[in-house]
Amino acid sequence: MALLDIRNLTIELETSEGYVRMIDNANLSINEGEIHGLVGESGSGKSLMAKAILGLSHPSWKVSADRMIWDGINLLELSVAERRQLMGIDISMIFQEPSTFLDPSLTIEQQLSYILKPKKSSLFFWQDRKNKQLELKNWLHKVGIKNHKRVLESYPWELSEGACQKIMIMMAIANYPKLLIADEATNMMESSTQAQIFRLLSKLNQTQGLSILLISHDLESIVSWSDKLTVLYCGQTVESGVSMDMMAKPYHPYVQALLDHIAEFGRYPRARSDMPSLKGNIPSLQHLPLGCRLGPRCPYAHKSCIDAPLLKKVKSHAFACHFPRNQEEKTHESDS
Ligand code: SF4
Repeated sequence: MALLDIRNLTIELETSEGYVRMIDNANLSINEGEIHGLVGESGSGKSLMAKAILGLSHPSWKVSADRMIWDGINLLELSVAERRQLMGIDISMIFQEPSTFLDPSLTIEQQLSYILKPKKSSLFFWQDRKNKQLELKNWLHKVGIKNHKRVLESYPWELSEGACQKIMIMMAIANYPKLLIADEATNMMESSTQAQIFRLLSKLNQTQGLSILLISHDLESIVSWSDKLTVLYCGQTVESGVSMDMMAKPYHPYVQALLDHIAEFGRYPRARSDMPSLKGNIPSLQHLPLGCRLGPRCPYAHKSCIDAPLLKKVKSHAFACHFPRNQEEKTHESDS
C-alpha cells in the first residue's frame, strides 16, 4: 500500500478573471522508503501540490480529489487542526525562501533548541545543555555547516540564504519524519553542497526508511537521486514511473524534450535557472489551449490532440499522450 496516494487532485485559485484551475486531475503516489521526484517548469503546480498535501491551502482555494490517503488515513475527512497535527509529526517540508521561515528576533541556537525532541534528562541541567549542543553541532555538520559555533550564535539575517537553507533542512529532518517534502531545497547551493545534501537525504532514506518527495524545476539535478518520477506540465501529470525506465524510454514528448535538452547541453556548464523545455512558452493558465495542453509546442501534435489525452498505463509507467514515443507495448487507461 502506498504511504501517500493522491488521485485526481484539482486545485482552483480565485483570480480577478474568476477561478483558474492550477492543478487539473493530478496523481501522485509515494511508497514507504521511496524517493520520488516531482518535476515541472515554474508555474506547473509543484509547490501547490505540496501545500495541498500539508493542508496549507488558502480558504479561497477550491481543493478536491478522488482520493487523498496518508498512511491509511483519508486526509479529506480530517479537520484543519487534525491535519496540521498529523503533518507536524509525520511530514516535514523544506520550503523555498528559507529566511522567511526563520524568526529574525531569535538566534539560530534558540530556534533549533525548540526543534529537537527532549531526551531523557541527566542528573544536572548543564549536562542536558551540553548534550543538546553536541546534538546540534552533529546535525549542523551533517548538513554541511562547519563553523557551527558562529552559526548557532547568529541571527538569521546575519547568515547567507544558503546557510539558512541548510538550517531549514536540519530542522526538517532532525526529528525523523516519515515523509520529507523538499521543495527546491538545494536551489541556492553550489553543486558540491547540493550533492552533500542529496547524499545525506539518501543516507536517511536508506538507514531510517525516510520517504522523500524531491520537488524541482530541474530534472537533471534530481533524477539520479529519485526512485520514481512524476512530471507535471501546466498543472497536469504528463508522465510518471520508475526514474530509470523514464530516462531510458520516455513516452511523453515533453519528457523526451527535457532529456534531449540535457543531452544537447551536457551536464556542465548550464545556467542553473534554465528549465530544459520545448520551443515556445508555457501558456498562462488563464489561456490554455484546447485539448492537450502541450499541443501548440508539441512537434508530434495531430488533429486528434484537440481531445485532451487521458492518463494511460503500461505496467507502472503512466503517461498522457495520444502519440507516445518509444513504445511498442499495448496501453490501457489508468484507473488504479
Ligand atoms: S497528445 Fe498530441 S499534442 Fe499532446 S503531447 Fe501527445 S502528441 Fe503532443
